[in-house]
Amino acid sequence: MEDTYNIKAIVLNRQSYLENDGRVMVYSRETGKLELTVRGAKKIKSKLAGHLEPMNLVDIMAVRGQRRDYVGAAVSDCCYGNIKNDLAKLAAAGRAMKIVDQLIKPGLAQAEIFELLKDYLEALEVAKKDLTFLASVFIIKFLARLGHQPELSRCLSCGTTLRPGSNRFDLARGGLVCAQCAKPGEINQLAISNNGIKLLRLALKCDFAELAKVKVEKKLGREVETVIEKFLRYGF
Ligand SMILES: [Zn+2]
Repeated sequence: MEDTYNIKAIVLNRQSYLENDGRVMVYSRETGKLELTVRGAKKIKSKLAGHLEPMNLVDIMAVRGQRRDYVGAAVSDCCYGNIKNDLAKLAAAGRAMKIVDQLIKPGLAQAEIFELLKDYLEALEVAKKDLTFLASVFIIKFLARLGHQPELSRCLSCGTTLRPGSNRFDLARGGLVCAQCAKPGEINQLAISNNGIKLLRLALKCDFAELAKVKVEKKLGREVETVIEKFLRYGF
């Protein structure tokens, strides 16, 4: 008898493989990142293929294979139609899938990463504006869940509680340093405003639905996005 298991997963990407088959990379609540073969994916009207589009939330019955497990059955739970019909949303979602795929190794299940991805897709699905800010919030939450939560309350050099002032975000050490400890001219220490720090804290603390209600001034949003993007590019 076939050895099977059920997972709830988000499809990160899909590739053709051999003549008729395909492969999907998924992130599931139960297994973490997992690559599965999709047999007959290229056949016309493959029932499976439609359910396994990238970004779909899908219930999969996987079958253990000798080399690689494969998809026995798949039913999409949510296809996020608004994302797929909007190029900007599609790009924002696609980038998240790519970052998760790049930074996570297979085999380590972290339910909170699955939930974060799902929450992000749900937020994008209903978002009316400010997709770039939403995308940055996803990145910082994701890095935090990987164990790289930036230190935002104490100076990483002297340990004192940070006060409003000329604090800087140290990319190499992943957090703030106070005005006294900041090194002038150090390009890996970014200037960050007091409101920028508050917004970063908020991004880590609040869920997407709560953040959607926060009115973020454009300039402040860009400032925080820049810090998050540079943090991602510097360290990961
Ligand atoms: Zn200090």
